Amino acid sequence: MEHVTAVPSWAMLAYLVSGVLFILALRGLSSPATSRAGNRYGMIGMTIAMVTTLVTHGIASLPEIAGAIAIGGGVGFVTARKIKMTDMPQLVAAFHSLVGLAAVLVGLAAYLNPQAFGIAGADGIIEPQSRIEMGLGIAIGAITFSGSIIAFLKLAGKMSGSPILLPGRHVLNLGTLIAILGLVAYFTQDQSQWVIATITVLSFIIGFLLIIPIGGADMPVVVSMLNSYSGWAAAAMGFTLHNTAMIITGALVGSSGAILSYIMCKAMNRGFLSVIAGGFGAEAAAGGGAAKEQRPWKRGSAEDAAYMMKEAENVIIIPGYGMAVSQAQHALREMGDVLKKEGVNVKYAIHPVAGRMPGHMNVLLAEANVPYDEVFELEDINSEFAQADVAFIIGANDVVNPAAKTDKSSPIYGMPVFDVDKAKTIFFVKRSMGGVGYAGVDNDVFYMDQTMMLLADAKKMVEDIVKALAH
Ligand code: NDP
Repeated sequence: MEHVTAVPSWAMLAYLVSGVLFILALRGLSSPATSRAGNRYGMIGMTIAMVTTLVTHGIASLPEIAGAIAIGGGVGFVTARKIKMTDMPQLVAAFHSLVGLAAVLVGLAAYLNPQAFGIAGADGIIEPQSRIEMGLGIAIGAITFSGSIIAFLKLAGKMSGSPILLPGRHVLNLGTLIAILGLVAYFTQDQSQWVIATITVLSFIIGFLLIIPIGGADMPVVVSMLNSYSGWAAAAMGFTLHNTAMIITGALVGSSGAILSYIMCKAMNRGFLSVIAGGFGAEAAAGGGAAKEQRPWKRGSAEDAAYMMKEAENVIIIPGYGMAVSQAQHALREMGDVLKKEGVNVKYAIHPVAGRMPGHMNVLLAEANVPYDEVFELEDINSEFAQADVAFIIGANDVVNPAAKTDKSSPIYGMPVFDVDKAKTIFFVKRSMGGVGYAGVDNDVFYMDQTMMLLADAKKMVEDIVKALAH
């Protein structure tokens, strides 16, 4: 016990201040207009928390900590600078896996040297309450770790993005979860090594099992769910380390991730429980992506698009993942500016799962300085397609696919989509007729009477339209 310094009251106050700053950060991040301020609050809060922890924790050697911060910070800095915007989702998943692994390692370190953590007397018997914290912390951490690795592989395209359904998976998953909880309870009676080792191994396995059956259009929920798990893992570490700031931060990340998962589920018309239980209703998805029929379609040109949009009264732009791939947002804003000068009413329609991470399109449009009041959410703009002269789809696909409304066998069935078919003319920008969206299914919009396919890289096509508009 003698290793643990009692936390002075000024430090508790400092932790409280950092907690309040984190809440302000989350609040700020809820809108693009206040997100910079939100980020700043978060950074200040984290600096206060880190300095307080360093000053009050006498057990650690400062040079070692500084060395670890320099190495970790250096790797993070270089990675963040190098990463392409389109690779962000898998990077986030990779970072979540590290949080999970850290929780497992902290838990195991506390088990192996409980006196250093102040959770055992000289006889080495760990307090029962700490055994529960440790067991749960390791379990959540291990699930986060292995689940995030599968998510990373799926998002990076190194593993099939479609759901992989094991027979009897629900019974297997439920049995494993019950076994883990039973072992955590048993751990309070018996602190043998085999108990903690079995909890760790089973939790790694269930992490894989839980994420493997989720795929296709349900992946956004996986990303936000693992974000939530990483928060709970950090909170559990906070209990083991007796660090209030970490408990607060972990709980904030955990609950905001859970709320985001819920919002994403609602946006996609999916049951929260069925997504986290993994692969419910995914049987249909496995059979999706049927062979494409040869159907007639019309090819348009940059000049056609420029002419039609210049003459239009209302143009709605629907960006998707392909805009991110080609980094077309700046050219797109320029196109919007030219059209507005011509008296056209231009609006941007953002689907909650467009792109490959929550808020992906909003971030890119904000980067290109698209005014916030021209950017609309699905439910606010969907009724306006009936009055739109042009729906300009750029790199989006699944989020405009009417199969979500009509085809029960489609993996995206039930997800609300934009009613682009109600617009008078549709321009569909993508590179080839063969390319599919994330869910891997054909799209009837390509073959509609009012659709013109603009087959090219999104940025190149928009630049050509801007040139054509100038003439
Ligand atoms: P999609 O993935 O459905 O479609 C992308 C489209 O962009 C394709 O038609 C592709 O066609 C086109 N494209 C790709 N590169 C380019 C390029 N350089 N220039 C022009 N077009 C290009 O995108 P959406 O945004 O509509 O849908 C998002 C999907 O991703 C949903 O299914 C969602 O569930 C899933 N998802 C979302 C996550 C999130 O958090 N938002 C996370 C994980 C998955 P082509 O290849 O022919 O060019």
